[in-house]
Amino acid sequence: MGDEAGFLNASRIKGTHAAIKSGMLVAEAAFEALGAGRSHDALEAYPNAFRASWLHDELHRARNFKPWMSKGLYTGTLMVGIDQLLFRGRAPWTLGHAQADHETLTPKAKAIPIEYPKPDGVLTFDRLSSVFVSNTNHEEDQPVHLLLKDPAVPTTVNLPVYAGPESRYCPAGVYEFVNEAGTARLQINAANCVHCKTCDIKDPTQNIDWVVPEGGGGPNYPDM
Ligand code: SF4
Repeated sequence: MGDEAGFLNASRIKGTHAAIKSGMLVAEAAFEALGAGRSHDALEAYPNAFRASWLHDELHRARNFKPWMSKGLYTGTLMVGIDQLLFRGRAPWTLGHAQADHETLTPKAKAIPIEYPKPDGVLTFDRLSSVFVSNTNHEEDQPVHLLLKDPAVPTTVNLPVYAGPESRYCPAGVYEFVNEAGTARLQINAANCVHCKTCDIKDPTQNIDWVVPEGGGGPNYPDM
């Protein structure tokens, strides 16, 4: 359920309502199973309830958005328009992705550097300020939830070939390449993690293993 199962309407960039609804469907299936005395139920009622819900209808209509947009801005805009305006999300096709997300990263030798303006503190903010307002606060002694299958890969592959993408795509500044006596080392500030799971999906070598952290550490946006 929720983000973990990919319940995001990418065309609207909205997923909170999908997380809540899918959680409600699971809870209802669990409640019904427990009420009937089935404490080890596989919750087969859940996928059926999901298929019958407005959430399935909404996500089904948006299913082609990401595959079309991955074909480029102009093709994507045109085809999403046809898909959504002409067919209202009921086109007789369902597209897939030709590659996994982590296979699409461009090596730095082929990339054109982009100069981003510095955050102005009014409309745009630096990453650590954004982590601060997320109220993420992990227990210091909880087991590490960001593991590297091979600790050498960040500095032997990711940094020289892809310019250390983990230090840029992570919204919380968790991954930091530090220079120690002329040698680069990857430092993982796991306590800052806001659990977006980008590193698990996007790491080009699939060397980062994101395991479920202890609950209750945020993010927690109190005014939302
Ligand atoms: S899940 Fe990964 S990318 Fe996302 S905040 Fe945590 S360390 Fe950064």
